[in-house]
Amino acid sequence: MKRVGILAIQGDVEAHAGALARIGAEAVPVLREKHLADVDALILPGGESTTIAKGIDRLALAEPLRVFADSGRPVLGTCAGAILIASESRHHPVPTLGLIDLVALRNDYGTQVDSFAAPADPGSGDFAGMRCVFIRAPRLAELGEGVEVLARVEGEPVLVRQGNRLACTFHPELTEDSRVHRLLV
Ligand code: GLN
Repeated sequence: MKRVGILAIQGDVEAHAGALARIGAEAVPVLREKHLADVDALILPGGESTTIAKGIDRLALAEPLRVFADSGRPVLGTCAGAILIASESRHHPVPTLGLIDLVALRNDYGTQVDSFAAPADPGSGDFAGMRCVFIRAPRLAELGEGVEVLARVEGEPVLVRQGNRLACTFHPELTEDSRVHRLLV
């Protein structure tokens, strides 16, 4: 059984654990460097990136998280987690981990009341038609050359990959569709 760490400072930790359970993977809450030692992959969940970034700083986790990504094990950042995984964030910037060569534009899809669900564009390969839930989502901009777009919604990149790192602007843990979690695992 694969063990998948979920950064458990704040945000959608339980919903990700549920999504992992549905595909037969074990969720491991991560709050200390030692929790990263024996996990096969890692999720940085959605939530509030300001709060999560403060927690990363307080718990001195930035360097351990970077070392984890450099170990080659897969890392997925969803929504606030996609902001944290970026090389830079804009619109009330928060400190990021710099794991994927892109700029995350915070709240660029609007406020809470602008939350919406939309299908991934037909050209999105394995993810075509996937229902994507957006909640105060960041937009992914200035993608570096090594960043591959795996899914788009209305032409905008919503799921991208750079090597072992994935960024997802929507919330794959809030639907029954397991495609993103399966990719990670
Ligand atoms: N708007 C939040 C932020 O910038 C992210 C929202 C989410 O994760 N659903 O941190």
